[in-house]
Amino acid sequence: MNAFWMPFTANRAFAAEPRMLAAAEGMFYRDADGREVLDATAGLWCVNAGHGREAIAAAIGRQARQLDFAPTFQFGHPLAVQAAEAVLALLPDGFDSIFFTNSGSESADTALKLALAYHRARGDLRRTRLVGRLRGYHGVNFGGLSVGGIQKNRAPFGALLPNVDHLRDTHAPSRNAFSMGQPADGADLADDLLRIVALHGGESIAAVIVEPLAGSTGVLVPPKGYLERLRALCSQFGILLIFDEVITGFGRLGAPFAAQRYGVTPDIITMAKGLTNGVVPMGAVASRQGIRTAIFDAAPDGIEFFHGYTYSGNPVACAAALATLGVYREEGLFARAAGLAEYFGQAVHRLRQAPHVVDIRNDGLVAGIELAPGPEGPGTRGFAVFHDCFRRGVMVRVTGDTIALSPPLIVETAHIDRIVDTIRGALADLDE
Ligand code: PLP
Repeated sequence: MNAFWMPFTANRAFAAEPRMLAAAEGMFYRDADGREVLDATAGLWCVNAGHGREAIAAAIGRQARQLDFAPTFQFGHPLAVQAAEAVLALLPDGFDSIFFTNSGSESADTALKLALAYHRARGDLRRTRLVGRLRGYHGVNFGGLSVGGIQKNRAPFGALLPNVDHLRDTHAPSRNAFSMGQPADGADLADDLLRIVALHGGESIAAVIVEPLAGSTGVLVPPKGYLERLRALCSQFGILLIFDEVITGFGRLGAPFAAQRYGVTPDIITMAKGLTNGVVPMGAVASRQGIRTAIFDAAPDGIEFFHGYTYSGNPVACAAALATLGVYREEGLFARAAGLAEYFGQAVHRLRQAPHVVDIRNDGLVAGIELAPGPEGPGTRGFAVFHDCFRRGVMVRVTGDTIALSPPLIVETAHIDRIVDTIRGALADLDE
């Protein structure tokens, strides 16, 4: 394990007891010993159509042979156009352009730059301030990190971007513990934007970025009315609203995007992960009518937006995206997720009686099961459950002491039962 420096991993502990994956098909991984492991996390929130999809593999192979790479700086290729159109077709009305990236982190930074460039293009030079939210995760690049609100991710890297503020988070267990779906209480938390407006002036804020449902800090479901209120305040003060839909996009909540699930339309949407079923790295940023036009109008000659990645719209990634969106459509996977959400939610909430469980949160095919921290400090109990579940043949995800579940949308009720029973068993055996 020496050569491979693993991301977001306790490398030395891992080397002592590695969890090596060797193959995957459908709902299951196979580990290096050939043991089946049920995937309750869609890999890392991305394999929404399940593993080993032949249509995606075939499209990638075909494309690699036909046009392996094409620059998209000053050149084009048809699949990039088709992929952009296919993504637009999934979005709420009013979005008119797609900028391709390679990851969720790049999408976050691209969206922030787009917002800043938009205001500047319109001659509004005052709007340079960015607002994120405590407990928010927008990847690991400097922009996303700066608006993100996870202390451990930020602390080692110094001052980050200036002119950034954070809304308070939406975690309110004293009011909302064990809510089924969207918590009833907490729309007022959006009014925290008024504090930042009062401090700096609304006219100084370029954009507010939030995950509509926060995934990485332990599944925080937006309280009813919260996103609507945030939308209204952003509109009132001329602030662009960015939804980071890297996790919530592509059916996770039983609709194409959280924007449709919650009926709130932002100005910019970031995405990645499920765009290609996780098979090839790819992200994208969608912007609403008027944003691109303003930037184009401000630069009548030459390059309008000095931004892009070598692999923006990579042909093989575009082929993977088109094939993936085809699978979602043909198999009706977003509607399938919507249909299973009730069963999934009820099943997960049955863990309420299990030892150490202090909250359960869910929406669509996402759930977080929060445990009281163990005597050894925060995170150890959660990690012990994660580890034990893997030993028992189920891959879950852990952040702090919250077990997060986000199975592929092809999950069946028997899989859901097995996931829940495995977690119950791991919790019951924790103290033995
Ligand atoms: N934004 C959100 C909401 C995410 O959940 C993630 C990853 O989990 C990212 C951004 C970063 O994506 P990536 O790891 O592809 O850079």
